[in-house]
Amino acid sequence: MARVFNFSAGPAMLPTEVMQQAQAEMLDWRGSGMSVMEMSHRGKEFMEIATTAEADLRELLAIPDNYKVLFLQGGATTQFAMAPLNLMGRTGKADYANTGSWSKKAIAEGKRFGEVNVCASSEADGFNSVPAFDSWDLSADAAYLHITPNETIGGVEYHGLPDSGDVPLVADMSSTILSRPLDVSSYGIIYAGAQKNIGPAGLTLVIIRDDLIGSAGDDCPSMLNYATHAEAGSMSNTPPTYSWYLAGLVFQWLKHKGGLTAMAEINERKAGKLYAAIEANDFYSNPVAPANRSWMNVPFILQDAELDASFLEQAKQLGLVTLKGHRSVGGMRASIYNAMPEQGVDTLIEFMNDFAQQHG
Ligand SMILES: *Cc1c(COP(=O)(O)O)cnc(C)c1O
Repeated sequence: MARVFNFSAGPAMLPTEVMQQAQAEMLDWRGSGMSVMEMSHRGKEFMEIATTAEADLRELLAIPDNYKVLFLQGGATTQFAMAPLNLMGRTGKADYANTGSWSKKAIAEGKRFGEVNVCASSEADGFNSVPAFDSWDLSADAAYLHITPNETIGGVEYHGLPDSGDVPLVADMSSTILSRPLDVSSYGIIYAGAQKNIGPAGLTLVIIRDDLIGSAGDDCPSMLNYATHAEAGSMSNTPPTYSWYLAGLVFQWLKHKGGLTAMAEINERKAGKLYAAIEANDFYSNPVAPANRSWMNVPFILQDAELDASFLEQAKQLGLVTLKGHRSVGGMRASIYNAMPEQGVDTLIEFMNDFAQQHG
């Protein structure tokens, strides 16, 4: 069976080479006589897999020594609660920027734990931009400032950061982490569900500055306390071993590809040509402010929504699948994470031009 170009927002495509390697190692990981799925997480083989994955991630993102990397479960959604549960008590309040569907969910959860100040919002413009940083109403006594650097549904991405001074930035990077180099030291906490740009579902990455660990209250469940996981090397209980292993293979694939500088170049080019194709044709449009367009998730609408079904059907025949936009915004969305080959984007653009010509 031929593999398709899968534009799903998540779980998303994984690099073919990574899955081939996993397939080759499925029954017998490097002479161990067992699958990674069958290994004790405390055994020497899995410890090697785990430490190599962390070291590779640290190298890719140039993570400073005063940050811990945690390999957790529960998805980014659990971090919506875990971050406030651990940090809010420091001052009792936190700032949140509201730039779309995922911010809104983080805000709703944050409100359970203290006072939430929505310091910036693009709701009035339909979440089609990131509010200018100099207009943000930041609190000097916020325990943290929460941002969503890439809104996966709206296709809105930060290409810069607000200056929060000494207030730590907490960033939900689920759909943008590893798409380009990152200055980790600008953040207090970075978290991401794995299933978009890291590996398979089931793993959640948290990168956290040391001094932010250990301020949870006594009533914080131990599994939701960053300190528990930091002290146990993410092995306080059984971690998602197979997802951790696959994420490690993705990190090695990224290193072979030339690291995140090389990925950034490819990602900017892939997104640039897709937006250019949308702009070049009245048949398609994207509502997002050009300065805030996402490199990873590219929503677009057809001039005539009646043609949506036929667009999706014809695309599918060419092996271009999962292009239907999120139910809350309609239209189309092409998610083009690291593992989407450039050829997939080229094939999509060619099809979009042909389809517009047929129907325009
Ligand atoms: C997908 C996504 C989430 C939800 O992630 P889960 O791992 O399913 O909990 C949260 N935030 C953003 C930005 C996302 O793209």
